[in-house]
Amino acid sequence: MSKANIAFYWAASCGGCEIAVLDINEKILDVIEKANILMWPVAMDTKYEDLKKMKDKSIDVCFFNGAIRTSENEELAKILRKKSKLLVAFGSCAHEGCIPALANLFNKKLIFDRAYQETETTVNSENTLPLPSFEVKEGEIHIPEFYDTVKTLDQVVDVDYYIPGCPPTPNIVEEAFNKFLAGDLPPKGAVLAPVKALCDECPRKKKDKMIETIYRVYEKEADPEKCFLDQGIICMGPATRSGCGHQCIKGNMPCTGCFGKTPEVTDQGAKMISALASVLAVENELTLDEKKVEELVSKIKDPVGTFYRYSLASSFIKRKVIK
Ligand code: SF4
Ligand code: SF4
Repeated sequence: MSKANIAFYWAASCGGCEIAVLDINEKILDVIEKANILMWPVAMDTKYEDLKKMKDKSIDVCFFNGAIRTSENEELAKILRKKSKLLVAFGSCAHEGCIPALANLFNKKLIFDRAYQETETTVNSENTLPLPSFEVKEGEIHIPEFYDTVKTLDQVVDVDYYIPGCPPTPNIVEEAFNKFLAGDLPPKGAVLAPVKALCDECPRKKKDKMIETIYRVYEKEADPEKCFLDQGIICMGPATRSGCGHQCIKGNMPCTGCFGKTPEVTDQGAKMISALASVLAVENELTLDEKKVEELVSKIKDPVGTFYRYSLASSFIKRKVIK
């Protein structure tokens, strides 16, 4: 049986998804036995020119991690789409924008002002900023253009499948590799993880009781047997797809939502806000005075980072409007 040709690529990514590939440990040897790896920037020195010379559709499956933040990310997404039979958004950044897309609360100018001028450790009296092209004595140099808005992979090219998680957990990665290498594929567009919400698999005792206030994780020692929400600690479990093996919950930390929304949910953050409103006393807003409601809501210190930490780019909101 001939080997499959596979490729890995990273765009606006932290590198964690590259490590997630190796987190399947010795199972990577089974992958190598069944597949030729044609491109993997973290491990191999494939040049962009080599990629451009490949015939269209010569890659059977390309696992693309990272969001689209620069012109280089977008150009490579388009080339890899052309060269690949199947393009897979691997990890939360490619799937939903993830942490890089929290930059959508700003724009390029605000980010450059902060990064190149305002940080406490920066000295930049000449106000030097990255330019997409500039002249040096050896000739003209081009660097990728930094975009105002971070996008998901499927906002720039057609995507066949999604592997969720920040990063995807070894069980999810291994199952996905097995499916691709065996040609045992679900319908196009599927997210390769269970459809249930994390709460449906969570072993903690849940009483759905009304809570009076919200605690940040460092403000209260959580009882490891009880549901975080019942204890007043925000846990994204009601709005998040299962499949991670509730690893954070086992470590006595609430879910932050990296597996993204479940199929019946259209907006993960909105779903969580609604779930939280139903356990917070704000549901009784007609009997609560405005000051009390404001006091409760003010306990959520970073609403976008709490409810849209991974999904801002793919949400209804997508970005902050900056005039
Ligand atoms: S999904 Fe998470 S682990 Fe993967 S590249 Fe993005 S931030 Fe890193
Ligand atoms: S909210 Fe969190 S802790 Fe509570 S049942 Fe759901 S996943 Fe478990």
